[in-house]
Amino acid sequence: MPDPDVLVAGAGPAGLLLAAELALAGVRTTIVERQPERPPYCRGFNLNARALDLLARRGLAEGLVAEGHRVPHAPVTGLPGPLLLDGAATDHPFSLGIPQTRVEEVLEARALDLGVEILRGHDLRSFTQAADSVSTVVHNGRFGRTIRSRYLVGCDGSRSTVRKQAGIGFPGTDARWYALLGDVECELPYGPSAGPDGRSVFVIPRPGYVRIVVREDDPPSDKDTPVTLERLRAQVDAVLGRHVELRAPRWLSRFGDAARLASRYREGRVLLAGDAAHIHPPAGAIGVNVALDDAFNLGWKLAATVRGTAPEGLLDTYHDERHAAGTRILANTRAQVALEEAGDEPWADLMRRVAAHPAGNRALAEIITGLDACYEPGGHPWLGRLAPDVPLRVSGTETHLAALLHTGRPVLLDLTASGSFGVWSAGVEVVAASSPSTSDIDAVLLRPDGHVAWVGAPGSGEAGLAAALRRWVGDVPVPASA
Ligand SMILES: Cc1cc2nc3c(=O)[nH]c(=O)nc-3n(C[C@H](O)[C@H](O)[C@H](O)COP(=O)(O)OP(=O)(O)OC[C@H]3O[C@@H](n4cnc5c(N)ncnc54)[C@H](O)[C@@H]3O)c2cc1C
Repeated sequence: MPDPDVLVAGAGPAGLLLAAELALAGVRTTIVERQPERPPYCRGFNLNARALDLLARRGLAEGLVAEGHRVPHAPVTGLPGPLLLDGAATDHPFSLGIPQTRVEEVLEARALDLGVEILRGHDLRSFTQAADSVSTVVHNGRFGRTIRSRYLVGCDGSRSTVRKQAGIGFPGTDARWYALLGDVECELPYGPSAGPDGRSVFVIPRPGYVRIVVREDDPPSDKDTPVTLERLRAQVDAVLGRHVELRAPRWLSRFGDAARLASRYREGRVLLAGDAAHIHPPAGAIGVNVALDDAFNLGWKLAATVRGTAPEGLLDTYHDERHAAGTRILANTRAQVALEEAGDEPWADLMRRVAAHPAGNRALAEIITGLDACYEPGGHPWLGRLAPDVPLRVSGTETHLAALLHTGRPVLLDLTASGSFGVWSAGVEVVAASSPSTSDIDAVLLRPDGHVAWVGAPGSGEAGLAAALRRWVGDVPVPASA
């Protein structure tokens, strides 16, 4: 194979979606993945409303939704009731129960279909950056080789070699507690089982087995010490004050509540996405979803940069937008843990009352899932936000907004009856449409990720459109009439 334009380290959700996005835009992409095959266990089990909205912009949500099961609320820790998604700012007002492994399978198939090369059993060891390229040493267990690419993206998980070797700081807080996790079979009922001193063992149903989670009393000084079934049994018995038989272990692990955020998401020609850029407490079951969100934000920007069409500074908006999102995710997940531990604290009581109020409940659901993402606050309510998937009529055919983005290109959606924005078609794809849901909008510029870069309100003409196109799309010809 010729040298790729972009080398991606890690074939988790972030790496697979990013590679697919790059390949969709015609960028030659290789993934190196340390593991020879996908692990037999499954970490996450949900896609949230925001991730589904994003995947729908590439036509990837529908199949997953058909396979999974819908729950009409967002996962949350520390509140007594659910966070309902009814009426929230989403086209998918539910969480989808679906194994992370299945999501990875779907993304991997798409990446391969689009021509991504995936080198499994290849460990990224080191890299050096030059002015116009990155040289990366990978090792397949028998011999090493150097892959030269124009950019390298570390989607290599929380212990990211790429992040460390790029010298990117990872400030934050160490874990204050650890929990043991066991995918096993046992007779405990689903949900929390409390012991005599009020501590609990959590039992989560999984297909054909259960996931047990229990806080660990005396974690070993080396947190990588393998968890044994005996260790998990002893902890469960200690918490419940009686013996519980645990059988058929599929996966035994340990996790904590550490929270860290990469100080920069870009260092020259090296970028980070997913867990490589942030770790946080497991509250809200958000990790896969944020990894996909990062990849979706980065893909089109990096592709335009590689192709040489990107406006000045476009790639740096990835750090600006997603580092800010990462900061909020750390805050949200830490706040959920604090709520869980707060007991009768007055502020926790206040939060519970906010959550019990329908508007407060919906606002918390949008914040915790990232549905409130707005990269350009102020102005029209659509500006900076993911454009809703409104119904459209295009050339006499019924369609919907998300379908216009399946190709991964920016779109200027012209909703005027006269089609007056067609004069911009030399520089951007203009789609003339009508919609029953957009009476206060004449036109809207959609970034490839579906976020709104510009809104033309009725009567405001094309004011600001040329600047928005220069900022997000490139040096497009401005029509003489503008
Ligand atoms: C117990 C548990 C339960 C979870 N439950 C949920 C949930 O319900 N919902 C949710 O959204 N999230 C959940 N998460 C979090 C979620 O699994 C992660 O946030 C998500 O996998 C991050 O995706 P990623 O692509 O960034 O990284 P990863 O999925 O970690 O992928 C990184 C990949 O990089 C590879 N790699 C590492 N180093 C190298 C190297 N040097 N060279 C080559 N390859 C390398 C790794 O082998 C790995 O395949 C859970 C996590 C855990 C541990």
